[in-house]
Amino acid sequence: VADRADIAIVGAGLIGCAIALELAERGRSVVVLERSVPGAEASTVAAGILAPQVEHPDDALLASLGEDSRELHAAWAERLRERVGIDVGFRRTGALVVGHSSGALDARAAHYEARGVAHEKLDGAEARTVEPAISPQVQTAISLPNEAQVEPPRLLRALSLACELAGVRFVRSVVRGVRAEAGRVTGLDLEDGPLAAAEVVVAAGSWTSLVPGAGAAGRGRDGTLREVRPVRGQLVHAEAHPRLVTRLIFGSGGYVVPRGDGRYVCGATTEEAGFEKEVTLGGIHQVLERALVVVPGLASAKLVGHAVSFRPGTPDGRPLVGRGALPGLWIASGHYRNGILLAPITAKLLGAAMAGEADDPRLEALSPRRFEALAEAT
Ligand SMILES: Cc1cc2nc3c(=O)[nH]c(=O)nc-3n(C[C@H](O)[C@H](O)[C@H](O)COP(=O)(O)OP(=O)(O)OC[C@H]3O[C@@H](n4cnc5c(N)ncnc54)[C@H](O)[C@@H]3O)c2cc1C
Repeated sequence: VADRADIAIVGAGLIGCAIALELAERGRSVVVLERSVPGAEASTVAAGILAPQVEHPDDALLASLGEDSRELHAAWAERLRERVGIDVGFRRTGALVVGHSSGALDARAAHYEARGVAHEKLDGAEARTVEPAISPQVQTAISLPNEAQVEPPRLLRALSLACELAGVRFVRSVVRGVRAEAGRVTGLDLEDGPLAAAEVVVAAGSWTSLVPGAGAAGRGRDGTLREVRPVRGQLVHAEAHPRLVTRLIFGSGGYVVPRGDGRYVCGATTEEAGFEKEVTLGGIHQVLERALVVVPGLASAKLVGHAVSFRPGTPDGRPLVGRGALPGLWIASGHYRNGILLAPITAKLLGAAMAGEADDPRLEALSPRRFEALAEAT
């Protein structure tokens, strides 16, 4: 077991793995601590939607980070195919947002107009020309040609292999806390003893608030970063032939992701259920009801399976990426519904900041410490 490293990363979800690869490629020695296997939690369950404009019509910051990150995914897919021979399923399928009344998408379209986002407004008949399987009830739609998708389980496998090739060490252990001496990070407490590290990155997803020492001293329990909470999501996997839709379809509060080979992912619930990792009848009912309202032909699709995990939510819906409360402490968490999308840009921005390069101005709004300032001001 490694007992020291330049940098120790807590959590081998997509965020931890992406940062590990970035840092290893910058020549740092990196150990990733994971209590299970890489991608064991949200990162493998996710639908793999890379659709910043669908997700953030009215948040210019997240839309801009998401757009950059979506394009970095395209480059990642190429590199990973070359390096480890795995096709991660990156496809620029485009997205179709649909509405069931004629004015339903006007506000969304106005945001796109104002920000110069490539899009096309369609009426119901036009929408059914491009996607014949969507419901006859659909009255209006917006087509976003640049949105894309990836297959998270393949991406996690490819990325963890690329990490190993780049010299990253994965250690299976439960992290009990961040160690600090004289006001500076010195490593981690693992279940079987200490690990010395000059710098620590906490990328523990929904469990970030349970890692003692990841927040400012005196906040939360044992100085935890208390702003991250689990938001449960359930989804359904199906298979249908012949092909129903080719684009990512969003409507009625749900989505349908076509993998292109007959597989479909229908999602997802958004539930405040603590860490209760259960697939519920009500959850599956809601997911299916919303998917069938938009693509009725899915009713005869084969049920392949279901999945559940936790999105790391934050009070303002934006991630926590950047310097933590002590020198040597870095946080990369709270990516909520967009951790797959935002992993490449998170790794790039954090890697640059950790190397002492000038911060991207967008990082300031993601500061993990922004809520401390708020709490002190009130
Ligand atoms: C149903 C669903 C659908 C989603 N769909 C999408 C989508 O289409 N597109 C998108 O961009 N995002 C999507 N998301 C969100 C995305 O999955 C998350 O934002 C992202 O996976 C978070 O990655 P992470 O690495 O921070 O967390 P995780 O993948 O949860 O990884 C955290 C890791 O840390 C480990 N860990 C935690 N605590 C400790 C500890 N003390 N010691 C050791 N290890 C520890 C865990 O075992 C885990 O492996 C979806 C989420 C859900 C639930």
